[in-house]
Amino acid sequence: QDPVPSDIDISRAQHPKMINKVAAEVGIAPSELEPYGAYKAKVSLDVLDRLKHRRNGRYVLVAGITPTPLGEGKSTTTIGLTQALSGHLGRIAFANVRQPSQGPTFGIKGGAAGGGYSQVIPMDEFNLHLTGDIHAITAANNLLAAAIDTRMYHEATQKDGPLYRRLVPEKKGKREFAKVMFKRLEKLGINKTDPNELTEDEARRFARLDIDPETITWHRVLDVNDRHLRGITIGQAPTENKVPPRETSFDISVASECMAVLALSTDLKDMRERLGRMVVASSKAGDPVTADDIGCGGALTALMKDAIKPNLMQTLEGTPVFVHAGPFANISIGNSSIIADRVALKLAGTELDEDHNAKTGFVVTEAGFDFTMGGERFMNIKCRASGLVPDVVVIVATVRALKVHGGGPEIKAGAQLPEVYRTENLECLRAGCVNLAKHIANARSYGPNVVVAINKFSTDSPAEIDLIRDAALAAGAQAAVPANHWAEGGPGAADLAHAVVDAAEKSQPENFKLLYPLTDPVTARLETIARKMYGAGSISLSPTAAHQLETYTRQGLADLPLCIAKTQYSLSHDAALKGAPEGFDLPIREVRVAAGAGYLFALAAEIQTIPGLPTAPGYLGVEVGEGGEVEGLF
Ligand code: ADP
Repeated sequence: QDPVPSDIDISRAQHPKMINKVAAEVGIAPSELEPYGAYKAKVSLDVLDRLKHRRNGRYVLVAGITPTPLGEGKSTTTIGLTQALSGHLGRIAFANVRQPSQGPTFGIKGGAAGGGYSQVIPMDEFNLHLTGDIHAITAANNLLAAAIDTRMYHEATQKDGPLYRRLVPEKKGKREFAKVMFKRLEKLGINKTDPNELTEDEARRFARLDIDPETITWHRVLDVNDRHLRGITIGQAPTENKVPPRETSFDISVASECMAVLALSTDLKDMRERLGRMVVASSKAGDPVTADDIGCGGALTALMKDAIKPNLMQTLEGTPVFVHAGPFANISIGNSSIIADRVALKLAGTELDEDHNAKTGFVVTEAGFDFTMGGERFMNIKCRASGLVPDVVVIVATVRALKVHGGGPEIKAGAQLPEVYRTENLECLRAGCVNLAKHIANARSYGPNVVVAINKFSTDSPAEIDLIRDAALAAGAQAAVPANHWAEGGPGAADLAHAVVDAAEKSQPENFKLLYPLTDPVTARLETIARKMYGAGSISLSPTAAHQLETYTRQGLADLPLCIAKTQYSLSHDAALKGAPEGFDLPIREVRVAAGAGYLFALAAEIQTIPGLPTAPGYLGVEVGEGGEVEGLF
């Protein structure tokens, strides 16, 4: 249609298939499906066992060039490409995407269901609550937060003996350790199973975590853009006044390490271990204190045991979509889950006697931000954890963003686009293609074939599209094709789908290589990312960051991959540096550890971990019609 209607109108006009039909079409057994209403379902991890003999389907990562604040269409392309692979090429194809946070849904950015004729539906269910995974994460995160402060309170107000006896209570006349406590005993090197046999000193070491309040890194979370919770004081009621009040803060739920654990776990057992390993503080003696030390790991797993199952939805054209996990891209990996990818790759895979090239299906997943952030984390953190190897990287480019990199004026959300973005300007576009070339080179350095998707806007000229194609091929892309799935749905991405199939068939997974080994010192690893990916000349560590690194190294937590938090609006840390800047110095202000999720994160800029609401937030437009339908979401 011309003009293309609003996202919610398009979504509403399409009647979704019942979710059990979507599931049956891709071979999910009825016993493996747990419907939540008519159009959403969780899928049991039993699929992995049932199909373990299969070869995996093809694995495609969609990433982007350095974007404008409007977004360049990665989500839209992920959905459009999947629709084309399925509808046009007849392959089983899954889009694996992140669950959006409700904070931005009611704030500035809007949802993440794609757009135009390439969307996940029903988009209101996708953007609100889904099947409750984020609520489960909020509950788990906050249980641990409450456990930390309560434990400090009990340690401050009780003597050794009573503290130990309360932690290991007598049941039916017998004192017994809870299962989780054996992990703590093991860590302390106490090889005893009978609580009565601990010496006084052992009992004291067991019971006293002796958390240094200054070192607590665990925050409370909620899924609302509530900026007034960025700094709070807790413990002010008279009932808690035996210990001093403490300053802390809230983060958005998706920034919780529990969310990153959900994204990076490979199965339930792995999730249990990761949740228990999460480090929340140091003891006064300088040792790391974990969720399992506090005795919480099992309970956190109980709260998240359903969240681990991926959520099945569908595109506008009825293609399956897994919506699972959504770690905050600002400080975390910004990728959907390993488990959803594993399940989809098996469902899309082939039996050993089938012709893999002719029959195999595709799993298309998206990395947040540009390739050099989300894609780099996908390779070095997610693929390192999963052992999976992508066959193809699709890089989404737009004329408008490349013009920004070629010196065009700033693009602001909500304001009219300046002239240069609405008319042909080959000079500006040509200059901006250095940004595309750098992302292509970065993606190719890991081994997979690269296909550039030129996400077409109505104002793009044929000469502009040709110019991008030539620049992409010159920079080493295997193919570069215009795609019009936003306006046309799957058929608009048919050429892109052909290019992706071709690139996948030529894929050589044995050439896959990560950027750095974990055996390099942390500073060397940071420097490798900064120099090779961003184009930096050097890095400098603040005294705080250097001290933190020293602590984590001493605590044995430094042998982890790295997640660098910085602006997504430049290849550098400075949003004003467009194109492909070189030789700058990347400042590292702080380093923190997500020991359970399994990475260190380094802050190269001031990063907000809970967004705020604008003057005219998204919620102003939202109403519920008489029939209960949600109106006004974007
Ligand atoms: P990203 O995932 O890269 O942030 P999205 O796919 O969410 O980007 O797209 C950002 C916004 O741009 C969405 O509102 C989407 O509907 C819109 N959009 C994407 N592609 C096009 C296009 N080709 N023409 C017009 N609008 C588009």
